[in-house]
Amino acid sequence: MTGPGHQPADDLRTLLRVTLEALDAGRRDRSGPLPAGGPAAVRQATLDALGPGPLLPRTGDGEAAALGALTRMLTAGSADPADPFCAAHLHCPPLAVAVAADLAVSTLNPSLDSWDQAPAGTTVELEVVAALAELVGFDPTHAVGTVTTGGTESNLMGLLLGSHTTGQAAIRSRARGRSGPRAHHGRPGPRAQLGRAGRGGSAGPVPVLCSAAGHHSVRRGAELLGLTKVVPVAVDAAYRMDVQALRAALARHDGPVLVVATAGTTDAGAIDPLAEIADLVRSHPAPSWLHVDAAHGGGALFSRRLAGRLTGLDQADSVALDLHKLGWQPAPAGVFLTPSRRGWSRLEAEIAYLNPADETTAGYTSLLGRSLRTTRRPDAFKIAVTFRALGRERLGAMVDACHDLAEHAAHVIADHPRLELAAPVTLSTVLFRYVPAGTGTGTGTEEGTRLDRLNAAIRSRLLDDGAAVVGRTTAGPEAAVHLKLTLLNPAATAADVSALLALVAATGDRIAAEAQP
Ligand SMILES: *Cc1c(COP(=O)(O)O)cnc(C)c1O
Repeated sequence: MTGPGHQPADDLRTLLRVTLEALDAGRRDRSGPLPAGGPAAVRQATLDALGPGPLLPRTGDGEAAALGALTRMLTAGSADPADPFCAAHLHCPPLAVAVAADLAVSTLNPSLDSWDQAPAGTTVELEVVAALAELVGFDPTHAVGTVTTGGTESNLMGLLLGSHTTGQAAIRSRARGRSGPRAHHGRPGPRAQLGRAGRGGSAGPVPVLCSAAGHHSVRRGAELLGLTKVVPVAVDAAYRMDVQALRAALARHDGPVLVVATAGTTDAGAIDPLAEIADLVRSHPAPSWLHVDAAHGGGALFSRRLAGRLTGLDQADSVALDLHKLGWQPAPAGVFLTPSRRGWSRLEAEIAYLNPADETTAGYTSLLGRSLRTTRRPDAFKIAVTFRALGRERLGAMVDACHDLAEHAAHVIADHPRLELAAPVTLSTVLFRYVPAGTGTGTGTEEGTRLDRLNAAIRSRLLDDGAAVVGRTTAGPEAAVHLKLTLLNPAATAADVSALLALVAATGDRIAAEAQP
């Protein structure tokens, strides 16, 4: 039995056996990819398994009993990304080797905010960042980066470093404009610096130009940073940023700008024309920063067949990647990269109890200045183990397998009389909807509403039956409800995908028939 001060590894062997058995039992309890019965039934089953008394009782049930019962409950009540019919989100089945590496990290509990809490972990993160920088096309000896909780945090950091850099550059050029290039050695006085970083001067905050198909975390991150001017840039029919629209937006905003491009939109998997965007941003007359949100599409870099679709990514000022998507890591495994040190001074901090200057100089590297967080687990470790274990070839083959599944799905949909494809397949996302027989081609609002309701009902019927998890979003000029497959399970087969689409269509047929008077 574990007592106070007991080493966790002593009991880990026993508890791991309990956990693995409960995972198996919980999977058997659930007959499909998610628990059946709908939200109320699943809530009740979860509460029942948590037990009748208070969750924090006076005396506990003991480790094995609690762990076994609750793990079985969690497994039975989970949407299992390893099931081929679980295909809604960028929610991957994690590699066993990465899960095991994560367990080692949890056991050792290192923290990257100071060297003395993570002597080896510090170097592992720096090496993982260098390897990923090289994959992106940055010079790994100059690139700087960090492992984050995901695209949301990485996008926030891109906006933070970008607004700081463009704001500082704008202040410097104004100072030069006022009193000649040598004024204040080209640096702003403290008053100018205060509260001005990220502001394009008296004109207000630096505008953030982002496509209408960009991730919602870009807008939220901008708001958090006080960058209240978010300018949507139009997309083309394939949901890629329209370069002419960006050109026009840049012409309208001739001061400092932040541009956020997306490599792999969440809904369609579309990749913005990165090279053309980078050219436009580079020729902007005022300070600029290009952040590329490659949280979804960055995984394509592992694939020799698909990496070319990210051409231009190496021209970005900052990049977000997510290896808990097309990288098969347990979350979190986000990555934020820049080609150089530019912008990072915004996060640097010398804190007496963590990274005193003399220790840093003596080689006790602290990664405190790489993150908004203080305590930070080395999520880089599972990435390092995965890279060494699989190599780029096997990771690339997994990406290709998912892409093949998406192409297959697109063909099945194109050939199906009642399924309609809404966007071309770029990566592993398939956007489509069910259109019942006899639907006119008109865009009458009544008919649109009926189709929206029908597609929404297909998804919730499948969820309530515990039969399948398919995604839902809106698409097209009328923001019509669509369904979405995000195929991140390389072990799924073409037959699985065909069967899933057949189930979607049959469910649509059934609901449409029920709705007939
Ligand atoms: C998933 C995703 C995000 C958000 O990433 P999290 O890891 O969920 O924080 C941002 N941008 C894009 C394009 C994404 O697909």
